[in-house]
Amino acid sequence: MFMLAVKSSLSVLLAVLVCISGWFGMTGDKATGEENYKTYKNVILMIGDGMGFNTLEATKKLKNVNLVMETMPVCSQSETRSLTNKVTDSAAGGTALACGIRTYNGAIGVFAFNPFANNWQYPISLSEFAIERGKAAGVVTTDETSGATPASFSAHAIARTSERNISYDQMESDLTLVWGCASESVTAEKCAENGFDYFTTRAEMNALSEGSRSFGQFNWDDVAAVKDDNDTPYIAEMTEKAIDLLDDDEDGFFLMVEGAHIDKFSHSNDFNGSTSHTAEFDKAIQVALDYAAKDGETLVVVTADHETGGITYNAEKDEYYYTTGSHTGVNVPVFVSATDAGFIDGKAYKNCEVSTQIARIMGAKEEDFPRIKL
Ligand SMILES: [Zn+2]
Repeated sequence: MFMLAVKSSLSVLLAVLVCISGWFGMTGDKATGEENYKTYKNVILMIGDGMGFNTLEATKKLKNVNLVMETMPVCSQSETRSLTNKVTDSAAGGTALACGIRTYNGAIGVFAFNPFANNWQYPISLSEFAIERGKAAGVVTTDETSGATPASFSAHAIARTSERNISYDQMESDLTLVWGCASESVTAEKCAENGFDYFTTRAEMNALSEGSRSFGQFNWDDVAAVKDDNDTPYIAEMTEKAIDLLDDDEDGFFLMVEGAHIDKFSHSNDFNGSTSHTAEFDKAIQVALDYAAKDGETLVVVTADHETGGITYNAEKDEYYYTTGSHTGVNVPVFVSATDAGFIDGKAYKNCEVSTQIARIMGAKEEDFPRIKL
């Protein structure tokens, strides 16, 4: 009797929470306004952490390069705020893009109103959605694997600082690959227990064979430095190999690739670092676009979780400059590789709606929203 009461009050609570979530626009379940979109077998979502429109302008000027992402046929925008703050952090920003909900800053793939329920009810990420559909899923980052953005696509935790919980979720996940810089609680033994090949170098990455599942733990300093004289792959090489491994799944794949150091160097107002990493990230986008062009069934979406540094242009001095060492609340780009994916050029979407539309592109129907694990 008591259990019955607990159970029924739980379901009432759940129903209320789902309603509240919808009411606050957390679930991102509104149609994008574009009904005619194609579904794609594969989706590659590329997130430049902290990459705003002016990050791109500064990169073109300082690195004297053109950016391939700007040649993509659709440029929409994402409104990056979280549920609780006008300025998001990478955890709530990552969760919006991964799970299609807005939550509180610091949250990794959990609801704002019942974060402690993450063992029995949480919003599922695009990686989990893809896996449910029989697809392979992978997460690649230049951050630590337990960083807020990769974590949002492969873990559920009430706080981004719960490194151990996040790493264990990832090592126990059904993802095909989780690659990034080394995280404290990730061990070769625990990875092997769950069928992951543990590796740390470019040579080992390149030797990974088809059908394998792998957990990459690269050297942080090498990744940050963007130099040739080490055995750590560039983000473009990681992207190429990750696609190569994931595309063996005949049902398709979902891959998230994050360029994390754009944000990290912007926090210290280091233009050389942030623009070097934006240029490297763009090379990874080129790899994804080349694959999509050849494959014909792959959509590439490039966006950011938020802008970092408040980059502004001074016309008199003809130079870009930082106005803050923090994140800002400005809209960020959403570049899409095809015009038939339901993203409208120039339109601003809530960050969570970007995720919802990507789920639709992977075959989600309206009854699949909100995407909740019960
Ligand atoms: Zn940041």
